[in-house]
Amino acid sequence: MRRWNGWGDETFTYPLAADAAAFLAEVLGPVTPPHDATLAEVVAAVPASRLPAHPMVDTDAAGRVYHARGQSLPDWIALRSGRIPAFPDGVAYPAEEAQVRDLLAYARSVGARLIPYGGGSSVVGHVNVLPGDAPVLTVDMGRMSCLLHLDEVSHLATFGAGVFGPDIEAQLRVRGFTLGHYPQSFELSSLGGWIVTRSNGQQSLGYGRIEAMFAGGRLEAPAGTLVLPPFPASAAGPDLREAVLGSEGRLGILTEATVRIRPVPEVEEFRGVFFPNFEDGQAAVREMMQARLPLSMLRLSTATETETTLAMAGHQDLIRLVKRFLALRGIGEERCLLIVGMTGGRSTVRFGRDEALAIAQRHRGVHLGTTFGKEWRKSRFRNPYLRNSLWEAGYALDTLETATQWSNISHMIEVIEAALRPGLQDIGEKVLAFSHLSHTYPWGSNVYTTYLYRIPANGDPEETLRRWQALKTAASRAIVAAGGTITHQHGIGLDHQPYLQGEKGPLGVAALHDLCTRFDPAGMMNPGKLVS
Ligand SMILES: Cc1cc2nc3c(=O)[nH]c(=O)nc-3n(C[C@H](O)[C@H](O)[C@H](O)COP(=O)(O)OP(=O)(O)OC[C@H]3O[C@@H](n4cnc5c(N)ncnc54)[C@H](O)[C@@H]3O)c2cc1C
Repeated sequence: MRRWNGWGDETFTYPLAADAAAFLAEVLGPVTPPHDATLAEVVAAVPASRLPAHPMVDTDAAGRVYHARGQSLPDWIALRSGRIPAFPDGVAYPAEEAQVRDLLAYARSVGARLIPYGGGSSVVGHVNVLPGDAPVLTVDMGRMSCLLHLDEVSHLATFGAGVFGPDIEAQLRVRGFTLGHYPQSFELSSLGGWIVTRSNGQQSLGYGRIEAMFAGGRLEAPAGTLVLPPFPASAAGPDLREAVLGSEGRLGILTEATVRIRPVPEVEEFRGVFFPNFEDGQAAVREMMQARLPLSMLRLSTATETETTLAMAGHQDLIRLVKRFLALRGIGEERCLLIVGMTGGRSTVRFGRDEALAIAQRHRGVHLGTTFGKEWRKSRFRNPYLRNSLWEAGYALDTLETATQWSNISHMIEVIEAALRPGLQDIGEKVLAFSHLSHTYPWGSNVYTTYLYRIPANGDPEETLRRWQALKTAASRAIVAAGGTITHQHGIGLDHQPYLQGEKGPLGVAALHDLCTRFDPAGMMNPGKLVS
């Protein structure tokens, strides 16, 4: 069962190791565990539903709590404190397209607003219910999760859009195929959610972003059905898949999606390389990208992230040995870890590895084999569970991300971290902030920054939120001022909306409004998200 107020399956925990707790206490100070509301308390506070009865609409209070918020830090603060300003009035679980059409007709007839819901893993407020007079119906797509058609000749698979990552891979792998889309939320996020938020998997370098995988599908909108055939390419005017990608539930409900798949790779390996500093590492990564090497992942951590990762990993004896060895090779305190992934046929993997390691060596990189790569792979979907333990200890954690051109990467990291680290100085609080590059392109890269701060000792949710607002605003402004996109992979939702106009311009935002009105003339689809 999914946690109602945190990340992941409630049967799995990732405890904070003693070394890690000591490290954080040293950097940020001692913490007091906050007091969380119980599910029973929150369920008891859910108001009566305003929706007229319908056989497909479940108005049970617990289901409405589970669908009230996503996974952003403001969502966590609301859920953990039990101070949730609005709940959906009901949740529907359609199993087929005709039922989705029925729900749209029902919502129109009763004046309800409708929020499509995949895994609820949004980190920017996409699925949140906003207070208002109209009743809200959340449409959970989880039952539309079957493999509907597999064209083995063309390498195309059509799924119900509510299918989660592990189900996609399970249904494809028994037939010898893979999609290869692995966001860190893989376990609890859906194909439809990935497409309409322009999600990016950890191995997008090899498999491509979701945009490259999305071949076509069907969208049920209040104004009708949009059918997108899975052509390999087309010159028939603007590509309407682009209208669906990033639409964030505003245009309609994606009921099925055809994706471009590949045979399960013969070999996959992840290797660790340490560089003496971030500039050397960055130069190596850029050269690998511009040489168009057949790699599936490049993940370069800054010195602070490298140090934090090593400190949080446990295994302190081994880490001491590694540090000693690196010091003998001229790599000291500014060391930066790069994980390089290779995926594919044996000869392609061999070629990619040899070329990448040769480039790394030219930039003073020291290759340490597959140990760090294996460790990264083992933890790739486990790490988000640490956020539960951190919260329960007394630390709030959030991430933010952008993308910019190579010539601007160092500056971008500098300004983001410079906005975050002193961001709570006025109240005498410290902020731990560190970054990595994990989605790289020949012309630039994303920057992904994690930051932690203390939850106030009295656990006051408003103060915890105020701290988040101060940090998020400072970092977002710094990103925009430094010429980055407000989001490389998380989408706009609610939290990034103030920055959308700066990126798209007034004409661009007006065109997005017009698009929403064309598909949804009465404004019933996920109002207030993407553009308000
Ligand atoms: C721990 C963690 C790690 C993450 N890692 C990554 C990462 O590596 N890469 C990345 O890109 N993102 C990541 N995210 C963010 C999030 O997982 C993505 O935005 C994901 O694409 C959301 O998918 P979902 O199914 O959970 O959608 P939801 O959160 O349920 O919904 C997101 C938006 O999509 C709409 N929607 C959902 N399904 C449909 C549908 N069928 N039709 C129409 N609209 C729909 C909703 O209305 C909403 O606006 C992470 C989040 C968490 C919590």
